[in-house]
Amino acid sequence: MIIRFSLVVAAIAAVPVLAQPALAEDLSSTLDAMASAAIAGDAEAYLEHVATDEPEFLIEQRAWAKDITRIAPDVLTYELISEPKIGDDGEATATVRITWNTPNWDGDDRELEIHTRFVNEDGQWHFGGRDWRERDAEGLRVLYANGASSLAREVTRHWPEIKAHVEEGFESMLDHPQVVKMYPTMLELKFSIFPSYVEDLGGWNEPGESIKLIGQRTSTAWLKSVLAHEYGHALTFAMGGPDIPLAIERAHGMPWWVLEGAAELGANRFSRAYDRSTRMVREWHTTDQLADWDDITNFYETDPDDYGYVYVQGLHFVAYASDRFGRSARNRWLQGMMSGSTLDDATVEAFEMSFDELDADWRASISQDP
Ligand SMILES: [Zn+2]
Repeated sequence: MIIRFSLVVAAIAAVPVLAQPALAEDLSSTLDAMASAAIAGDAEAYLEHVATDEPEFLIEQRAWAKDITRIAPDVLTYELISEPKIGDDGEATATVRITWNTPNWDGDDRELEIHTRFVNEDGQWHFGGRDWRERDAEGLRVLYANGASSLAREVTRHWPEIKAHVEEGFESMLDHPQVVKMYPTMLELKFSIFPSYVEDLGGWNEPGESIKLIGQRTSTAWLKSVLAHEYGHALTFAMGGPDIPLAIERAHGMPWWVLEGAAELGANRFSRAYDRSTRMVREWHTTDQLADWDDITNFYETDPDDYGYVYVQGLHFVAYASDRFGRSARNRWLQGMMSGSTLDDATVEAFEMSFDELDADWRASISQDP
């Protein structure tokens, strides 16, 4: 009887705890489950804990999860380091320390602290990424961290000019506002792409994702160039239609140098990169150092030493084709590849000549160009 009675008391005492479990424990259990799934390389299990309310974030997290099936982190912990709070919108926020390492990284564990949002979906707390501040303009949502409000204002101020210019070049526009995320550090930007991402970058965009930038003060010319470049990617990807997984497949099937060349051309009004590319391409042509297109076609297989060719040689070629056949034919060429045509087929369809012929003409034009 005594034993039985104590069990009853224990059960009653436990009820309030079970009925109103500590928020911190719930959030931690979401974070722990995410970490275990990621270390196991289990994308599906990881994504079960990701919030679905922001479409761009969800698509970014799907890409993140896809990469852990390629290179899973061997260290990943998420620690709550502040008391979580629930806001009027029902979302929970807390600062989370993330520590991670991956087999492709020789250095020490990397570490970030991110003020994080959690969204309650179906009675479970889901990871919502950084708790951003937001500033909007026509066709634009700028998400930024504390301390970057003047930069966010600058982005919204220059956006109409950038948007109009890039949309004119690509002869298209988005059917939803472009999201721009301004990360406070390069490390956080890289981690948001996937844990094994190591190369420094100026900006990032993939089908359905936000444009990702570093939210640090730079020159106005640089800011406009990088936004125009990334928005050029967004409009290219949108040529693949609304099916995001299909657009990702098509964009990844497209030569990387074509994607970067088109984006660089879209940004040229602000970057003036074409003049520089003309000098460099002429120099490479003279010294027989132009890259083989095959060497700069696949993002994952391109030697980081060759990344410069992707942008510079890519820009020069895309500019040559645009100048020779016109903007609309150039856009049909991009559209063809985003619709699943190979480089060869898209070139025949848009320019009525084979890629090899066009490539030979381009090379000849470099030596002729005064
Ligand atoms: Zn790019």
